[in-house]
Order: sequence, then structure tokens, then C-alpha cells
Amino acid sequence: MLTDPIVQEILIDITHDEEGSISVIECILCGVTSDFDIAEKTGINLTIIRKILYELHSAGIATYNRIEDPENTGDIYSWKFKQERICEIIQTKYVNILVEIEKSIKYEEENMFFVCKSDNHRYKFEKAADHNFECPICGDSLEHQDNSNIILELLKEKEVVSHMVKLDINSSNRY
Ligand SMILES: [Zn+2]
Repeated sequence: MLTDPIVQEILIDITHDEEGSISVIECILCGVTSDFDIAEKTGINLTIIRKILYELHSAGIATYNRIEDPENTGDIYSWKFKQERICEIIQTKYVNILVEIEKSIKYEEENMFFVCKSDNHRYKFEKAADHNFECPICGDSLEHQDNSNIILELLKEKEVVSHMVKLDINSSNRY
């Protein structure tokens, strides 16, 4: 799971660009669960590890149990990684992308566009008509744009992302 670039991106994003976050999660998954042990194993500064753990906890990705230290030198925190939460975050991400794609499809379908031959700037019908179908930037004439290819590309993207959403629902059931 941690080799997935999307998962890595999410973890690094949540921990505000702390690259060590992947190593910290790796440790937790391998059974090294206290901040001290993680520091020892990874060589990452304890303060940074605690910051990473705190950020992961705020995002609901890591939880901890407090264990009383038998030697009484203070409490030990044992951390746990919640894979299903990562799946939820990925899911939300794909769903948001899907919503954006659908908005774009609607926008392309409901509007008529005109393009400047010289600089490729694109205008909606209303704006093009306001300027007598001349480019407001360079004055060249505006031509009607057949946007069916753009719509086709968006529909393809929609299919790919819809597939990812379904995939993710299936994979999250495994955990
Ligand atoms: Zn122009």
C-alpha cells in the first residue's frame, strides 16, 4: 500500500511535506509502534516523528494507546495505522475529481465557444458576440470551435476515474 504513489502523496500532503512520514508508517506497520523505537529505527529526529504522528492523528490516519511504562519513566504511546482511513481519503479524492470532470462536461456541452486563430484564446459565445467575433486581445477573427473532441476526452477521463472509485470501494473492503 505504501508503494502506491497516491498513498505517498496523501501522507506527505497530510504531514506538510515531511518526507519521513512514509518511513514512520512503515515502522508502525512492521510493529515498531512507539515514537522512541521509530526514532531509533529510522534515525529521524524524535521531534519530527512526533510532529508526523500528531498530523497523522489529526487526520484520523493514526491512533495511539497509552501504555504505562513498567520502569515508570513516563507513559509510552503505542501507535496504530488506520488503512481504511487512507482508503476513504483516496475515495473522496476520486469522487471530487469525478465531480469536477462532470462539471467540465456540462460546461462544454452547454456552451458554444469561439477561438482566436492567432493566439488560441477561447471565448464563450456571449463574449465573442460582444466583440463582433474579433479577438479582444489581438483583433484577429474568432472562429467557432467544435469542442466535441474535448467532450470526448472528458468522457474518457470520467470513465477512468469512475473505474478507480469502484476499484477503491472494492479494495477498502479487503481491510
Ligand atoms: Zn487573439
